[in-house]
Amino acid sequence: MIDTHCHFFDEEFKDDLEDCINRCKENGIEKIILVGFSYDTNRKAQEYSKKYSFFYPTAGVHPEECNKEYLEQFNELKEFIENNKVYAIGECGLDYHWSVEFKEEQKELFKLQCELAIEKNLPIIIHSRDANQDTFDIVKSFNGKLKGVMHCYGGSLELAKEYVKLGMYISLGGPLTFKNAKEPKRVAEGIDINNLLIETDSPFLAPDPYRGKRNESSYVRFVCQKMAEIKGLSVEEVDKITTNNAVKLFNI
Ligand SMILES: [Zn+2]
Repeated sequence: MIDTHCHFFDEEFKDDLEDCINRCKENGIEKIILVGFSYDTNRKAQEYSKKYSFFYPTAGVHPEECNKEYLEQFNELKEFIENNKVYAIGECGLDYHWSVEFKEEQKELFKLQCELAIEKNLPIIIHSRDANQDTFDIVKSFNGKLKGVMHCYGGSLELAKEYVKLGMYISLGGPLTFKNAKEPKRVAEGIDINNLLIETDSPFLAPDPYRGKRNESSYVRFVCQKMAEIKGLSVEEVDKITTNNAVKLFNI
């Protein structure tokens, strides 16, 4: 099983990372995409990946990091990617939830990271919050040249189908297991298993039965279980297919 989105370098894990890693091993989680999103975390992802071989680091600039100096932020990222092995660009994207102060800058920074992913032939990890239409318009503008994943997808099934047509994977996380989560369940039901990925986004968004607590990669199994239940497949089958999807996308 693969957790395709995790931030294990977070402060939340400073006291018991080894325990968390052991729980991953005990639960059959073999690979983890360790997602950077800023100057510091891109470096931490590298550092951790040198120490533990099952971490696969990425690098990107998250929309919440974006400001007036977005061009400098991008150039710094570009240089970082020249000098470090990464398995994806991101997470990046658009987030209008807390602030739209740098909306235009966010869009520009996102487009630049899309172009970089195409240029480097790397997948992109996309974060989109309260920005469904703008995110989709940008992805669509690349005419299917972009490959990647809509991480912790929170949009409609209809929009998910449009993303799949453009060659994107749809990744579901903890919210799939929440009792009141109707749309993620529709997405899990309506999107072909060959286009789905599973993730935790730990330390955030812990699945049931740990909702509200700190999330960790070993909990990705609860997402897998819920997906299996919804699709009427065995856990082994969902594990095998989503693992293959992740191996293919991230080339790991
Ligand atoms: Zn994340």
